[in-house]
This record gives sequence, C-alpha cells and structure tokens, in this order.
Amino acid sequence: MTNSQNNLDGTVAVVGGGVVGCFVAYRLAGMGVPVTLLEQEGPGAGATGNSAGNIQPASGDDDAFKIALGAESLALWREHLPRIKEAGGIDYREQDVRYLYAATSEDEEHEVRRILGDVTNAGLKAEWVDGQTARETEPRLSGSIIGGMLHQDCIQMDPKLLNTALANTAETEGVAIQRQKQAVGLAVAGGRIRGIKLQDGSSLECSSVVLAMGAWTAKAVSEWLGYDLPVEPYGLQKLHLGLGPAAPLNCAVRWNGVNIVCRRDGLVHAGSRFLPDGFDAKPSAEARDWLLAQVAEILPGFQPSGVETIAAFAASTPARIPLVGRLPGIDGIYLAVPSTDGFLMAAVLAEMTAELMVNGKVHDLMERSPLALAKVR
Ligand SMILES: Cc1cc2nc3c(=O)[nH]c(=O)nc-3n(C[C@H](O)[C@H](O)[C@H](O)COP(=O)(O)OP(=O)(O)OC[C@H]3O[C@@H](n4cnc5c(N)ncnc54)[C@H](O)[C@@H]3O)c2cc1C
Repeated sequence: MTNSQNNLDGTVAVVGGGVVGCFVAYRLAGMGVPVTLLEQEGPGAGATGNSAGNIQPASGDDDAFKIALGAESLALWREHLPRIKEAGGIDYREQDVRYLYAATSEDEEHEVRRILGDVTNAGLKAEWVDGQTARETEPRLSGSIIGGMLHQDCIQMDPKLLNTALANTAETEGVAIQRQKQAVGLAVAGGRIRGIKLQDGSSLECSSVVLAMGAWTAKAVSEWLGYDLPVEPYGLQKLHLGLGPAAPLNCAVRWNGVNIVCRRDGLVHAGSRFLPDGFDAKPSAEARDWLLAQVAEILPGFQPSGVETIAAFAASTPARIPLVGRLPGIDGIYLAVPSTDGFLMAAVLAEMTAELMVNGKVHDLMERSPLALAKVR
C-alpha cells in the first residue's frame, strides 16, 4: 500500500507526549513522515513519568500471546535504545535487571512455573532457581522462598528521563513537538479527519491523527466523536524507598503482584497497589502500609531508610490488550493506547502503528484489539 492510499501526504498529528506518543512520532518520522506532536503539558506528564520504568515481559496475569508481544517489544527497545541514548542527550539511568519471580508455596510455584514456560517459549532468558540459590544471589530475601523464576531479560530505567530523551530524539528526526498544547476536538469532514482543534482557539491541519493520550483517550473520543471505548483510568500507588547506607539489591523481586526494583539513583521502587480512584489518585496510608508489608515479608533483610508514597494512574483495557489500529468509521484516525504495561509495550505499539500507516501492514494484535469492535453510540 502506498502513502497516498493511506493519506499520509500531509502532516500526521500525534496527540499525547507520553512514551507511546513520542515513540510513535519518532518511528513515523524515521519512515519519512512529517509529524507534529501535541502534548498538553510536557513529555512524561502522564502515566509514563510515574511508571516504574520496567521493560519486563510478563509483568502481570499475561497469557502466552501477551508475553510474546512483550518479548517483541523488548527486542524493539533494544534496537532503538542506542539511537535514543545518542540523540536524546540525557542519561536515563538504564540498567539490565534480573527479576526473581519468587514462590513461597506450592500454588505460587505452580503459577511461576507456568509463566516460566511462556517466558522461555517467547525466547526470553529465564531459569528456575531454588530458594537457597535465590538467597545466595540476594541474602536479604526471605527464608520462606522455596524457589522462583530468575527472569534475565528485563531492562529498567528512569521513565521520566527516558521520555524526555525520546522526545529529544523524535525532534532530531524532524518531529515538531508543541508543548502546553491541549487538543479539545477533531475536525472531521467527508468521513475523514481534517484537523485538530486546540484549547487556545487555534487548529492544526492534518491528514491523519494518532491518539496516544493514555487514560484520557476514552473520554476524549467519547466527547469528540461519540464512541465508547473500553479504556478506564486505573489508580496505582507505589513507594520509593531509601536504601540508606545499604548496598543496592543484587536482583529485583516480584512477589504477590508487587515489583521491588533498585533504581540506578539508589531509590527502591515497590509497586503497585490498585486503588479505584482513577483520575483522583492521592497517596494513601492503606496502600503504603500494604506495600511496606509485602516488602518486609519477601525482603526482611532490607530496612528502608525513608518512604515516599506516589499516587498515579494508567489506562486499563480488557485483558490488558492495547487499543491499537484504525478507529473504524472515520478515515485517518488511529489509536495507540496500552494498558498497565505501556512502558514495555510502547516500542511494539509504535512499530505496528507506523507500519500500518506507512506500509499498510496489519499486526496480529490489531485483530485481537477491542478497537476493532468500536462503534459510534
Ligand atoms: C505506578 C505505575 C507504575 C507503572 N510501572 C510500569 C512498568 O514498570 N512497566 C510498564 O510497562 N508500565 C508501567 N506502568 C504503566 C505505564 O506507565 C503506562 O502504561 C504508559 O506510561 C502509558 O504511556 P502512554 O504514552 O500511553 O500514556 P501517558 O504517559 O499517560 O501519556 C499520555 C499523554 O497524553 C497527554 N494528553 C492527554 N490528553 C491530551 C490532550 N487533550 N491534548 C494533548 N495532550 C494530551 C497527557 O498529558 C500525557 O502526557 C506503570 C504505571 C503506573 C501508574
């Protein structure tokens, strides 16, 4: 399929400057497409800036398809990170991380071994270790650990710094980023997108638009176009724990749905705890106490020197399947909205969006995406 068949002969607008919007803009520009990105605040102002920054395939109740998709995204991250490092001009504190998926009971072992099967089938490096080997790796781990999966194909970085580096890289590829520019509507005529209306009264002409507004996407698409999309704001609380004079953790740990990872700046991220407060997320003592209890149980030898509770929200979608592809019914409107693992998925969502728009290629995920069923109310 040619560019003109896809109506990419004018500017493509990307709305949203989180990790997904910036990655999409960067990939489209790399394929020679003129792109303008609109961000209502600054890159990383949404979920991305508050993320743990884990590029970690299998970070939730994922099936084999999702884990393989995560592996595909990890490979794309690895392909593009050298360019982002070189052009981004920022040390975003990237590190390879080994994640121990700890099991403290037979039921947990059964589940972790299932994940291990899917992770290795996806071509990722991981192995089963017994409890003693786990404690030799990190002596602060609990004696209750009977074994676990040591997942050795994860990267962790400061997500806010990465988002800034990615925006800088997109700009070096020719993307025009307009910061502090809020989209408030779309101009549609003759069954296709013609432009974007901005909050300051101006407008931006475009031939296509990619909506990458994370948790805000459903509300906007409902108000602007009358579609109901299955995207909800999903409140998540996390802790930043001080290491104090202690040595950094020798591996990250995942247990009872909580990731504990030592960042390169010496803070330990522990999260996340779901609270049903959506866009109104505020730090909660209940979430802090619950997360501290998980850390104390699985890593009793780690005594945090300080605790900060951070409340945030991400988009959530059914079965954590991203909404990606064309919006049915109006030409030239595309969505790229991940669920709660969007930092991981940004690279693959960007690649498949750019390939669809430029080359007409449809990724398998687009056929599974709930977007395929979207209808005007
Ligand atoms: C506590 C926490 C920890 C997490 N940890 C991880 C993790 O370790 N790994 C992982 O893979 N995922 C993680 N996630 C999920 C991840 O952060 C998100 O899935 C991902 O960052 C989503 O990126 P995005 O670009 O789609 O959305 P966002 O980062 O939310 O970006 C959307 C952007 O759109 C802008 N915007 C919205 N409306 C408009 C408008 N009308 N006009 C212009 N701009 C607009 C917003 O300002 C925002 O910058 C975590 C989330 C949280 C909250």
